[in-house]
Amino acid sequence: MLIEKLCEKPRKHLWHQPTPLEHAPNLAAELGAANIWIKRDDCNGLAFGGNKVRQMEYYLGDALAQGADALLITGAVQSNFVRTAAAACAKHGLQCHIQLENRVSKPSEAYEQSGNVLLDKMLGAILHYFPVGEDEEGADRNLEVIADGLRAKGRKPYIVHLHPSHPPLGALGYVDAAIELSHQMQEQDINVDTVFVPSGSGNTHGGFLYGWRGIGNETPVMGSCVRRGASLQQPRIEARLEQIGDLLQLESAAYSKDVHLTDEFLAPGYGVAGPAVKEAIALTAQKEAIILDPVYTGKTFAAAFKYVRDNPDCNIIILHTGGGPSIFGYGIGDLIPK
Ligand SMILES: *Cc1c(COP(=O)(O)O)cnc(C)c1O
Repeated sequence: MLIEKLCEKPRKHLWHQPTPLEHAPNLAAELGAANIWIKRDDCNGLAFGGNKVRQMEYYLGDALAQGADALLITGAVQSNFVRTAAAACAKHGLQCHIQLENRVSKPSEAYEQSGNVLLDKMLGAILHYFPVGEDEEGADRNLEVIADGLRAKGRKPYIVHLHPSHPPLGALGYVDAAIELSHQMQEQDINVDTVFVPSGSGNTHGGFLYGWRGIGNETPVMGSCVRRGASLQQPRIEARLEQIGDLLQLESAAYSKDVHLTDEFLAPGYGVAGPAVKEAIALTAQKEAIILDPVYTGKTFAAAFKYVRDNPDCNIIILHTGGGPSIFGYGIGDLIPK
């Protein structure tokens, strides 16, 4: 039923499916795990890949079904989501308007000019700026103003809203990802104790959890908070689960008891890596040659490594959601342990 409902939703394929489920034996030996597998959603083919590719498929599908010829989206300066939107629009002939919000205090020149910003421009997106980074409704309202201007010129704009009250179409990409990963685990005869995912907007965490439980998988899913503390994130994920049920016109598949969160690696704040995150970035690069970012994957892997050290001989999967390009917006001291 879940799979049938998911297939009814408009979707535009953008990437190579399935992504690899990679064994990480050097990391497991170093940390004392029985096995660590990494689900490589960073390797999915569209302009450096990442979790936003899966999410964008459903927004682009909806936009094209509505006859849109321009797409508007808002995000942090080093947002992977807006870069993915620029890539999807380039490939499918839509004009892309990106609004960049100031979410990081005292950004460096590299943060504002390199990494994803460079790619946004290379992919031909039109950039707009929004001075605050914590006003989701304000950011959406400003997109409406830009959209009005485009309509006046005869365009048909489609808005990817930021505020969580809007239907989380992107989460459907992670309902699908959970089904994909479950199949891979069956094929390869893999069982794990916990799966680690990042928890930001909640499209990835909420979608994954919904899909995972929806097909009867009872393995715990741990979300590592990247944007706000666990007490604020918990109701957000619960709301996401309900919204996903509404979108699919199904009873909810996952509930508040299924939502597990840690915010131990959030500090010093969004987009900034603390010591344990820098250590996770270095270890993963030096043991497996897999690159993490300080915003999302570094915090997710740090949470997973803590769990492994506390639970020797465990088996885990970590979802690698991409984000590589943003590292070029940072300095050496921001990413490499002293
Ligand atoms: C956006 C992003 C996340 C967080 O995903 P949400 O769906 O917003 O929770 C994690 N990792 C990377 C690399 C991202 O770009």
